Amino acid sequence: MRNRLGMITPNGIVPVSRPSGTWSHFLNFPALKRWATIATPLRGSVRRTELHTPMKLSKSLNVTLVSVVLVVGIRATGQASGPVTPHTQVVVLGTGNPNADPDRSGPAVAVVVNDTAYLVDCGPGVVRRAAAAEKLGIKALAAKQLKTVFITHLHSDHTLGYPDLIFTPWVLDRADPLTAYGPRGLRAMTDHIEKAWKKDIQVRIHGLEQANQTGYKVVVHEIAPGVVYRDANVTVTAFAVKHGTWDQAFGYRFDTADRSIVISGDTAPVESVVDACHGCDVLLHEVYNPKGEEMKEAHWQQYFKTFHTSPEELGDIARRAHPKLLVLYHQVLHKQPEEDLVEQVRRSYSGTFVSAKDLGMY
Ligand SMILES: [Zn+2]
Ligand SMILES: [Zn+2]
Repeated sequence: MRNRLGMITPNGIVPVSRPSGTWSHFLNFPALKRWATIATPLRGSVRRTELHTPMKLSKSLNVTLVSVVLVVGIRATGQASGPVTPHTQVVVLGTGNPNADPDRSGPAVAVVVNDTAYLVDCGPGVVRRAAAAEKLGIKALAAKQLKTVFITHLHSDHTLGYPDLIFTPWVLDRADPLTAYGPRGLRAMTDHIEKAWKKDIQVRIHGLEQANQTGYKVVVHEIAPGVVYRDANVTVTAFAVKHGTWDQAFGYRFDTADRSIVISGDTAPVESVVDACHGCDVLLHEVYNPKGEEMKEAHWQQYFKTFHTSPEELGDIARRAHPKLLVLYHQVLHKQPEEDLVEQVRRSYSGTFVSAKDLGMY
């Protein structure tokens, strides 16, 4: 069981590291998934079940995984029967970048706490990927329930899904406005989007669709580093990162009753990620493969050096941030196999990590 830690691909489980005393299991059976997540913290010696839900698991693999979880459940429920403790899941909705890769939707992550979803970024495809997660049993990701988003920066690949997040849930009967947190410029972007879809708004409200008059609106908060949000589920702290020539770019830390989660956003290696994580449960960090063909050009070398993080740099960050689980996301593969990037990270970091897939749960 200990050596099961790995990443599920359509070809099977690819181990990503082999720490002693740590294990991980993977399944895509929503009811069992929920049960296993609740059950495992009951056992002191078990750190946590990492949950991964790739899109194309074979049925036979599912059977294997379910049986593994049943064993875990029996071990874990020895002391069970107290109240259900709050629990937090990270659902990676999109791991992509500007490349139009159909298997990697635009960057977006959901932190789901007590059936409430908090999104980070809204790349293209965000609402449909959320709907796919809903189908897998995460009810908080139903379109109508998408009400809060934290935007790291205004690069188009992170915000092309913003109009989608504003309008699609409204069309599907969300009456609450969206609340959006992000850098300077978010308010202007929001105003422009509302103006761009003005006719649509009028037709839907005043025509036969009888749409509500509130759900398309956005409450915008242009933020500074520090605590930017707090409710009964979560405290969200923004921290500044270094993303080339962007005047502002943020990472976010989520603290809930049972987990701490740090999301780097897009950044060159930066100390603020180390400080924000500091032994956190999950660190999601961007990374690029420096072997790409376009990296032969000086301006791209300079671009990636100042805007993004290489595997070697990530290894250094992660060693000092010491997350319990490192999740690679927003991977820039540069047409190299994903395993090549994974291997480079493995060479510079001996801790536990996975390379995220769309709809991966951690
Ligand atoms: Zn960016
Ligand atoms: Zn990006």
